[in-house]
Amino acid sequence: MFQVNPNLLWKSGVASTCLMNLSASTVQSVPRGVGEVLDYIGYEKFELEELLKEFTEDRQVVSSYFNYLKERNLIIELKPFIELKELVRKPLELSFISTVWIDWTKDIVPERMKLLLFLREKYSSYNIIIKTDKLNLVVLENALKRLRAQGWHNVALFCPGMVLKSNIEKALSIPFDYFLSDDKSVVDSNVDERVIYYSRKSKNIEGTKDLFCSLRDIRRISGGQENSDSLYLTQEQKLYFHPFDTHYLIGHVTDVKSLKTLLEGERYSEYATWSKDKVEKCSNCEFSLACANPRWFRKKMDDLSSEPENCLYDPKLSVWQVRSLETAYE
Ligand code: SF4
Repeated sequence: MFQVNPNLLWKSGVASTCLMNLSASTVQSVPRGVGEVLDYIGYEKFELEELLKEFTEDRQVVSSYFNYLKERNLIIELKPFIELKELVRKPLELSFISTVWIDWTKDIVPERMKLLLFLREKYSSYNIIIKTDKLNLVVLENALKRLRAQGWHNVALFCPGMVLKSNIEKALSIPFDYFLSDDKSVVDSNVDERVIYYSRKSKNIEGTKDLFCSLRDIRRISGGQENSDSLYLTQEQKLYFHPFDTHYLIGHVTDVKSLKTLLEGERYSEYATWSKDKVEKCSNCEFSLACANPRWFRKKMDDLSSEPENCLYDPKLSVWQVRSLETAYE
């Protein structure tokens, strides 16, 4: 008796199938026929002979797919003494926002602190990134102290490379958990391991074998949440999902009540529940559950279902225009 390994997730595109091995965090492209066989089996237990009977004409091909998957432990043999019990998983009731971004150039007013406390407590947010283009150390030290008092676990500073670089020693004296910059040379200067280069460019995957993609990424992407479980509040109290997607305004926040209303509103939900299935090209792509190409690369910024402007993959032909996307995006 066999069963597809529960750590395996697959998605068929027009020409190929993508296998996502969640335990190994690898992503792999295989012929579409493998996906068809997997679709047929699902996660049900099966006997090999019975399966082959269903594919009499393609017996040899299906048998080779089976061996391929079994050798890689993607199909497992069930030992007779293992009793499988069904697990009932209840969806999380609590909404979750993983990262809050906030403009913090001037000292913050109490009303904004109330908004942050609301997000931390009611939306289980623990990561906060302060975005500023001025390194006012007194303001930042004060900010860090107040955020720690509210219980934020990870407090980071996002600052333009030019500003951060010329004040790096002073900045590092403030015990932020990490620093983000948009300039790679800050990182190259190798000042401190807390400095991270944050690129607007995509961390998109290469269309070759053995790609790495974390289980968390796959879960978030398949839940439609990639880049949407963050929030960005500007100095003018405008609310967006992310500082790189300021074309999609959720609304204006005046107080905790208005913030709550916006987070329960349609505008928020439309973006938060967006998935690549809503984009025609991506819905036909086998990498869609593993592809972390951010949604702000859409061609028409006012249309969430618009095609990605930067994707070099052709799902219909199963071909990448350029092998290394990292180079291609530069
Ligand atoms: S962006 Fe490209 S690689 Fe990613 S899912 Fe869409 S079509 Fe596939």
